[in-house]
Amino acid sequence: MLTRTQLAELLAQEGQPAYRADQILDWIYKKRAQTWEEMSNLPPALRTALAEQYPLRPLTHTLTKGSADTTRKFLLELPDKRYIETVLIPASPALYGETSDRHTLCVSSQVGCAYGCKFCASGLDGFTRNLTAAEIVSQIILAEELSGEKVNNLVFMGMGEPLANFTNLCQALDMITSDWGLNIGARRITVSTSGLVPQIKKLSDLPQQIRLAISLHGPDDETREKIMPVNKKYPVAELFDALRIWNSKKNQKITLEYILIDGINADPHHAAILAKRAASIRAKVNLIPYNTVEGLQWVRPSDEDCLRFKSVLTKAGVSATLRLEKGHDIDAACGQLRLKKEKAEI
Ligand code: SAH
Ligand code: SF4
Repeated sequence: MLTRTQLAELLAQEGQPAYRADQILDWIYKKRAQTWEEMSNLPPALRTALAEQYPLRPLTHTLTKGSADTTRKFLLELPDKRYIETVLIPASPALYGETSDRHTLCVSSQVGCAYGCKFCASGLDGFTRNLTAAEIVSQIILAEELSGEKVNNLVFMGMGEPLANFTNLCQALDMITSDWGLNIGARRITVSTSGLVPQIKKLSDLPQQIRLAISLHGPDDETREKIMPVNKKYPVAELFDALRIWNSKKNQKITLEYILIDGINADPHHAAILAKRAASIRAKVNLIPYNTVEGLQWVRPSDEDCLRFKSVLTKAGVSATLRLEKGHDIDAACGQLRLKKEKAEI
């Protein structure tokens, strides 16, 4: 899978006319060709040359968990036998975007993650490698084929830190948002980050109006450092300076993701600090009760504690969402299915 610019360069090198780029893009993104062979209006020699260099389908579907009216996790195998997962979430109360007839796909951006947040399954085995732009985009194409549904909302909240894979992320966004590509509106795409300050600033310069979510999980340095090592490098005040820059360039609200962990960050005084922080950048808050990860000791607070936390925010005028029902939170703990599969193979 290639961007329009990459394809044009490649075709020029092959001595091909420029109109071939649009023919190929049409085959890849609109007709959803599975092989170069199918592209019947291309010269056979060109098809063979491209097939040798650019596999059209880099991902193989291995396993699905869940069913059509619930959240479905697809476990996908990469060419180097690593696994990633992509999660399709059916229509549910609006968290991102405006409408509720959404099919949200949660995509992975890396194999593993180097940031080692202490509550997260994705970081448990450390970082293996970045996904290519083709591997990112293929997750969408494959999920649409497997489900028969059109993905119309996209969140980069699967395995990995998307902003640590910046170049490939930008190429993937080009393929996803362009009219020659998947043509998904930028406003329906949310990139989530643990708070990489320089990359947030760079991302704010992209022309597309993509949405930004921050995995905050602690409203002050002391709390955040306990569970997110990245906070040592980019402390809360620096992070919020970057978010103010984002606000000055984009006109949609930032989402602050906040996992509630008993005894760590879920007391009312944490909620009060969070309310001030969120209000200072006009952000909305998405509260996620901690989802159990095998091998980790953290505990989800009681429903009453979660509701009390939320009410501190709403009383302070901060818009906050909280989903308490279990089973729906499969999407909040990406990385766990891959981990199970790899353990089963050892
Ligand atoms: N690395 C990026 C993108 C991954 S998003 C980031 O951290 O933002 C994955 C989301 O799931 C993050 O908000 C993360 O904090 C959350 N998450 C990870 N482990 C979780 C758990 N055990 N319970 C609930 N949410 C979890
Ligand atoms: Fe990596 Fe995000 Fe998990 Fe932290 S929360 S370990 S940054 S995937």
